[in-house]
Amino acid sequence: MVSQASRLQSVHYDIRGPVLRRTRELEAEGHRILKLNLGNPAPFGLTAPDPVVAEVVRNIRDAEGYSDARGIQSAREAVASHYAARGVAGVGADDVYLGNGVSELIVMSLQALLNPDDEVLVPSPDYPLWTGAVSLSGGRAVHYRCDEQAGWQPDLDHVADQVSPRTRALVIINPNNPTGAVYSRDTLLGLLEVARRHRLLVLADEIYDQILYDGAVHETAATLAPDLLMLTMCGLSKTHRAAGFRSGWLVISGPRDDAADYLEGLELLANMRLCPNVPAQYAIETALSGRGGSEPDGIAALLRPGGRLREQRDFAWQQVSEIPGADCVRPAGALYVFPRLDPEVHKIRDDQQFVIDLLERQHLLITHGTGFNLPTTDHFRLVFLAGVDVLGDAIGRLAEFLSGYHQ
Ligand code: PLP
Repeated sequence: MVSQASRLQSVHYDIRGPVLRRTRELEAEGHRILKLNLGNPAPFGLTAPDPVVAEVVRNIRDAEGYSDARGIQSAREAVASHYAARGVAGVGADDVYLGNGVSELIVMSLQALLNPDDEVLVPSPDYPLWTGAVSLSGGRAVHYRCDEQAGWQPDLDHVADQVSPRTRALVIINPNNPTGAVYSRDTLLGLLEVARRHRLLVLADEIYDQILYDGAVHETAATLAPDLLMLTMCGLSKTHRAAGFRSGWLVISGPRDDAADYLEGLELLANMRLCPNVPAQYAIETALSGRGGSEPDGIAALLRPGGRLREQRDFAWQQVSEIPGADCVRPAGALYVFPRLDPEVHKIRDDQQFVIDLLERQHLLITHGTGFNLPTTDHFRLVFLAGVDVLGDAIGRLAEFLSGYHQ
């Protein structure tokens, strides 16, 4: 028998587990499944800007060899300049690591940090790779509550209460997946104060930093706390709709003196992977220069009134809010609605089963709230990347299903 490593027993990543397996079975039987479970823009016709793609094509012959383990110099310089322009102090190309998406950098940053039973503060709900990667690295994710009544802003008292002598790091996901919350400056300052007080490494996942609605403002956490060691992560998957390129970056800011040992560990892991995918690194400089973001291809055009993402956000939020017994905080950022189903109306004890039943009966795939490490079974996440016709059909099917569903 070939069994999996015992350390995987503690790694939970439900959003890709039994639900995905059942989806594959249904597809193998010939059913067409409408998938609103993944923040993957390209399949919905939201494609990368032409100049960004052209740069990859133009440089493809130069991308045949391994690059510097941290990534190519020109892209790292572009990332450093981008953050300097946003007001992050003291960042140069040597403080930037490129990765195969933010995903790889999340795993690297935690593997370099954690000893057995070290704790990391992670939001609940979270993007579950964070919790999974903490467990994979031998640590323990300790979840801090985000308060739905307060538009899903983190509950700062609860964050502070969760700190223990074993806490090593604080994860901030802003704008947030799955809730769509964009944190206020006060919230961020409060979170950073907890990190300051307890000397925690701050891990800021800002992959949706430019996907904002209704004039919401994203504050780059690193600008608010130049005195804290922080790793800021972002990439091309969302803003530049190039998720398949696997192109992301990590920027180290704040005082490095006390962190030389950790940073050496990070460098070791970067060296062990040889380098990130090289062709995709050539997209970064153009993407950040604005040439990859200008009209009519840019993210801004998709977000303003009349733009596709803005219209789809409005439509999805309105439609799910009209389902009897559902209510939903209006997302100010990112690509998701995360509605609550009133347990008095919809008695869902097992929300993964709810998602599987919906899949089987309506051939619609969404994600259950507990998959995001939410402790209650009364939420689901729906991706609003599809056009309004498709969203209307999907939410119609969902409403019909819910009207007769009992567990
Ligand atoms: N972080 C968050 C909050 C995400 O939502 C995602 C993808 O959905 C990622 C990281 C992973 O991004 P990447 O494609 O850069 O690996």
